[in-house]
Amino acid sequence: MEDMKKPDQPNEGTDQQSVDEVTKSEEPKVIRFEDLDPNFKYEIQAEPSGEFITRCYACGTCTASCPVRSIEETFNPRRIIHMALLGMKKEVLSSEFVWLCSTCYACYERCPQDVRITEMMNALKNLAVKNGYIHPAFTAQIDLIQGHGRLYEADSFVNKKRAKAELPKLTELPDPIKAIFKATGLYEYSTEAKESRESPQSGDTEGGSNE
Ligand code: SF4
Ligand code: SF4
Repeated sequence: MEDMKKPDQPNEGTDQQSVDEVTKSEEPKVIRFEDLDPNFKYEIQAEPSGEFITRCYACGTCTASCPVRSIEETFNPRRIIHMALLGMKKEVLSSEFVWLCSTCYACYERCPQDVRITEMMNALKNLAVKNGYIHPAFTAQIDLIQGHGRLYEADSFVNKKRAKAELPKLTELPDPIKAIFKATGLYEYSTEAKESRESPQSGDTEGGSNE
């Protein structure tokens, strides 16, 4: 990336700015002690790949290394980790941030504290889903996979072409996909997230819209 910042040029900014940027709020937001969840970091640590988050000492190397950051200035791994450590659960889980990581592993390779950020993002995504926050782009994909077993419909046209190429016929919603949806409850999570977006007054799971 032509604009990619070097690891020795960490991005500056206050944590107050991070709240405003990540939530894209018009008004500056005051962080109130009573809104913080001190157990949030332990929830993250209990998820696979989240266990190293408390190693972070906020050096900024991850942010300076991130190619997504080079094109989207609101994307800032150091800030999201700091917000998580502060206990800003709702702001973290409802932000678009957790869905924007391209899993390039640049931060993972360079982090001096071995926080393993790329994989920690998966822990944040899992927690976001469990708390009713799923980005609309992913609920649309879940609908397609739930309906067809893949991201497109395997109709007769597709199967005729496959037959010509001597490939086996594709079936709708193969059994392994059904089993994964059943075991994870993914479709139910997705449905709840969509309903929450449509009725944001229905409780604390109104986030995830970020549209
Ligand atoms: S996660 Fe690692 S690279 Fe990023 S700020 Fe924390 S210690 Fe530094
Ligand atoms: S893995 Fe994600 S957060 Fe880390 S540098 Fe790549 S895009 Fe940025």
